[in-house]
Amino acid sequence: MVNFSVIKVVNFSMDKHTRSRSDDYRGTRQFQTGTYSEACIESGVMGWKGIVDLLLVRSEGCEIIDFKSGEHSPDHELQLRAYAAIWLRAESQNAEQRRATTLKLVYPDGPVEVQTLSSDEDAELASQLVSRAEAARQAIVDPLPRATTSASECPRCQVRHLCEEYWQVLQEWRGADDRAARFVDLELAYEGMDGASFARGRVLRSSVLASDAPVLLRLTEPIPSWASPEQTMRVLGGRILDDTSSGRFVISAGELTEVYFV
Ligand code: SF4
Repeated sequence: MVNFSVIKVVNFSMDKHTRSRSDDYRGTRQFQTGTYSEACIESGVMGWKGIVDLLLVRSEGCEIIDFKSGEHSPDHELQLRAYAAIWLRAESQNAEQRRATTLKLVYPDGPVEVQTLSSDEDAELASQLVSRAEAARQAIVDPLPRATTSASECPRCQVRHLCEEYWQVLQEWRGADDRAARFVDLELAYEGMDGASFARGRVLRSSVLASDAPVLLRLTEPIPSWASPEQTMRVLGGRILDDTSSGRFVISAGELTEVYFV
């Protein structure tokens, strides 16, 4: 079964004569020479439908006209060219593959003729429409949006502390983060306080420090009273100090460092 993408919401008011004519030809029947309003054209090979305000089918070439009530827009030109691509490939309705040789937009301030595409350009547009429809269908059937992790983008992302995908791939980016030498993101298993200003923990995930490495986190603010040992801490932008006298890696939380319990 073919799933169709549809362009165009119909809003063109027609006279009775043209409406009845096009309704007869809506769907999969061959369009004979004539004039059709709100003509529903569809291409199975592309998986696209379009509803054309006015379609003039002639033996030498066809005309597609669309009526617009608002401002001029390049999107309207693309819409007409998409109609032309669908019409050319409308297997049942345009078996003779008659091309649309005239494309016209009719605005309140007058008509505008839109240049038709060459055969190659038309084929390229048709291919793009097929790809776009396929991507849209895929997005609909995907149950959840997918996060795309990137070593260049994620380290600057403001919600990375909440992004499980980010923490999952963090260790694979060892060295990819150019701040790695000094400023790090790391996930810790919180072990408790060491005095009022230092939190002890062990590395769960980090792009710089190995898993299970012992850490002393120097805080500028007290941690929440409800924090308990073994809870997970996520530290964004902590600064690694050279001080190893405690036998632990010392991370300093500065003004721009963020610390979360999750
Ligand atoms: S951290 Fe997560 S939310 Fe942020 S850019 Fe990366 S994948 Fe997207």
